[in-house]
Amino acid sequence: MRYTWASATHVGLVRAGNEDSVRPVNDGSTEEPVVIAVADGMGGAVAGEVASRVAIDAAFVEGATSEITPGERVRNGNDAVVAAVADDSTLSGMGTTLTLGLFLPDGSVRIGHIGDSRLYLYRDDELRQLTSDHTFVAELVAMGQITAEEANTHPRRHLVTRVIGTPEVNVDEFEIELKPNDRIVICSDGLNSMLRDREIAAKLKAASSPSDAAWSLVEAANAAGGTDNTTVAVVDVSL
Ligand code: MG
Repeated sequence: MRYTWASATHVGLVRAGNEDSVRPVNDGSTEEPVVIAVADGMGGAVAGEVASRVAIDAAFVEGATSEITPGERVRNGNDAVVAAVADDSTLSGMGTTLTLGLFLPDGSVRIGHIGDSRLYLYRDDELRQLTSDHTFVAELVAMGQITAEEANTHPRRHLVTRVIGTPEVNVDEFEIELKPNDRIVICSDGLNSMLRDREIAAKLKAASSPSDAAWSLVEAANAAGGTDNTTVAVVDVSL
């Protein structure tokens, strides 16, 4: 299988800095294994920026070899953030989400995930969120206490329940089989807090390339208010 990817990231219209990180930074295409990741940092001053960068860099150690599982990569990211805080107390309290896919030549993608960034599969004009949001409101929805629609406007919707930067991390890990013409989207919550899934799907349908898709989604999030940093990585699957 061939994977062709692009990413876009933007500070948005409200925040002073961009605390999101994305890898790879450059667009590309390969039939070799490739890791694509998005991290959304949080913390005072520059700490959020540091957290997402430190975590994603540690997750990429030794490139895209399939010897290192996505779960191990996410745990490496966590260890690196914990170590950075131990070295520099001004970074205390920083954390980050981390969602990554290890795309393999056989057409499978292995996913490692913590936090409220998302990985979507767009297949046959349908958008499906494959990751779970590790948020307080997602737990309320799962328990049937509020609807998914109510979660979108809930005052505590930004409260993340599982995050990188804690001593123990519980990483979600799973694998799916991809098909030609599938499109995978990995994004920070700046995208899905501004756009409904049907709006994201419409942009994906209209976009002819991963780069087109990534930038049109970032522009749409900003047009809808851009209250957060928005980062989108798009991976197209072909034979
Ligand atoms: Mg965010």
